[in-house]
Amino acid sequence: MEARILIREVTVVSPGQETAVRDVLMADGRWEFPETPPGDARVIDGTGKILLPGLYDLHAHLREPGREDSETIATGTAAALAGGFTGLTLMPDTIPPVDNGGMVQSLLEIAGRTALFPVQVAGCITRVREGKELAEIGEMRSRGAVMITDDPDPVANPQVLRRALQYSRDLGVLVATTCDVRELSGQGAMHEGSLSYRLGLPGLHPCAEEIGIARDIRLAQSCGARIHIRGVSTARSVETIRRYKSEGAAVTAEAAPHHLLFTDEDVGNYDTRYKVKPPLRPEADRLALLQAVRDGVIDLLATDHTPCTWFEKTRDFGSAPFGMTGLATALSALHDQLISKDLLTWEVLVARFSNAPRRLLGLEAPGIVPGTVVNAILFDPRKTITFTPALLKSPSLNTPFLNRTLTGAVVGAALGTQALTGEFADGGP
Ligand SMILES: [Zn+2]
Repeated sequence: MEARILIREVTVVSPGQETAVRDVLMADGRWEFPETPPGDARVIDGTGKILLPGLYDLHAHLREPGREDSETIATGTAAALAGGFTGLTLMPDTIPPVDNGGMVQSLLEIAGRTALFPVQVAGCITRVREGKELAEIGEMRSRGAVMITDDPDPVANPQVLRRALQYSRDLGVLVATTCDVRELSGQGAMHEGSLSYRLGLPGLHPCAEEIGIARDIRLAQSCGARIHIRGVSTARSVETIRRYKSEGAAVTAEAAPHHLLFTDEDVGNYDTRYKVKPPLRPEADRLALLQAVRDGVIDLLATDHTPCTWFEKTRDFGSAPFGMTGLATALSALHDQLISKDLLTWEVLVARFSNAPRRLLGLEAPGIVPGTVVNAILFDPRKTITFTPALLKSPSLNTPFLNRTLTGAVVGAALGTQALTGEFADGGP
């Protein structure tokens, strides 16, 4: 790495700081705010660009081991870095699942060799994700697992979840649940409403999520445990979380960017790229969720990056798997559809997609602060980007943004002295 890079006149967005245009210097992987620009630094023109801390994805399914045909830790972290993420947590629904200390250790070893930046590992709540017996929570914790989750499945048996919450409370492990009452959601393929009736598709009733969320938070509250709720998608789910938070319950919640960007109408003519779980909801739910992201009832954003192969996603809508990818596209999409239209601020974006997820895991949350280690991305809100397969980086192309052009692109990422991409790399973009 070059020792010194000066970014001139860049808009700096950093937690706890007033957003301001300034000159910032990277010197040996640390920030400086120079009074007078040094003469020996390489200069990047930051005019009109945004400098912000690297994003963190608390919810990435990278499919290694077991389904390397759809994603690996190497391809997933490449997609992440291109999209502005400098950290993420690997989901444990691999084949075999991460339900014991040995798996945590071996995954961290694979990641140590192939990931483009340090990653964290989540373990399962239950053995083989079967929902019956608890996984080796203490052993996984001692090997470095940062949280436990049976995502994309709920823990159906409330007594099993209660034991997991009690045990994790004592060990200081974060429990993250995906809320879904399967007896209600059944074989549903999209949001149950007028569109599912019109298309003749089995519906996913919103009560399946809403009742699941109320149940899981109540259980955690009753045993004095904290809980993290994933995949919040309806207005009523938001209100339940808001109410428990007002009572002081130790609950945090996440939403996926796609639930802020699309509605069930986007399923259109059986378009499987929009088949996700929880499903895309009507516009009123999308607006309530966006408001909850703004006001903090939704603590953080997480992509739920779910790679599926072309073969899988070209089945008929009913039998195609749920999920879309998000790591490469989330930030450009949020900018194109929300930030550029003043529907979301950069400050809230940084709080929910960089700061909050790291703090939830007890990791250090980066800022653009003199003396601290560089962990940042450069974003050009004027630059258009067309998400060709090459730019998506992943063998799985199951995103509605494939070959679509969006306004706003990540033009550089820097992490200490290790990773430098785009305009930060030697020789420019
Ligand atoms: Zn997931």
